[in-house]
Amino acid sequence: MKAPLTFSLLLGLFLSSCTKSSRTESPDVIATTTMIADMVRVIAGEDVSVGALMRPGVDPHLYKASPADVSKLNQAKVIFYNGLLLEGKMEDLFKRLATDGKAVRAVSDTVPQEKRLAPEDSEGHPDPHIWGDARLWASTVDAVVAQLSATFPEHKEDFEGRGEGYKVDLETLHRWAVKRVAKIPEDRRKLVTSHDAFAYFGQAYGLEVVGVQGISTASDPSVADRTRMVDFIKANGITAIFVESSVNKTLIEQIAADADVSVGGELFSDAMGEPGDVRTVNGDSYDVSTYIGMLKHNVNAIVEALR
Ligand SMILES: [Zn+2]
Repeated sequence: MKAPLTFSLLLGLFLSSCTKSSRTESPDVIATTTMIADMVRVIAGEDVSVGALMRPGVDPHLYKASPADVSKLNQAKVIFYNGLLLEGKMEDLFKRLATDGKAVRAVSDTVPQEKRLAPEDSEGHPDPHIWGDARLWASTVDAVVAQLSATFPEHKEDFEGRGEGYKVDLETLHRWAVKRVAKIPEDRRKLVTSHDAFAYFGQAYGLEVVGVQGISTASDPSVADRTRMVDFIKANGITAIFVESSVNKTLIEQIAADADVSVGGELFSDAMGEPGDVRTVNGDSYDVSTYIGMLKHNVNAIVEALR
């Protein structure tokens, strides 16, 4: 009894280490952020290997490609990035790779022009945080399916099938989030965070959103920005504000202390959680390293703190 068990265990370990090493060496497809990598993995299934450039908790606005990243990007058959200047320090690299003939695709390409938000102080640049709205994020599925199908035509039907399935899951998630946020009394639907990552989220789910920094984390907030925020919190009777997993927490903690409010928890704004970090709320369990789990976590944390 003992011998076959040990043998199958060893065989299992051997096989899993084989797949792991062949997968981590050089993925067929590289995605920049964890949100994009998750979507591409769902659509690619087992047909194509997928890797992410950024790890959980990494800020895409400030991310610069390392020499190892450049080598991975050079070896990949397809590169997916968000675009709309989210990966501001890598735009030139992507342009160069595209000029050299690499398939480089911004998933925001298929987001309709009229759905892109452009805040007043952004000098005409659209807000890149499109994943805040699950229904809008679903409109990027087509960009991924089209590019994967062009590069790996033998799996086209499978990509299309999984893409349609994922759109249905995102629509279900969207409807759940709308209902859940409606549990917050209307006058308390105000979300204060480190930077303006939640404009699409707020628009989709009915929250007024205020970030201490603008749509990028690249510039530091001034003393006036902080004072304005403390005044806003006091004037609006806000009881909880939020830190973001990919942004330094000190600023929000200081503002919370100055305004005498609590920190309502940590939201995932520009990166998702660690793989295997499973949370359970109201009997619903989800892994916050997936896009669906991340959005559920954000919605539940906001609803619990504000209602
Ligand atoms: Zn951001």
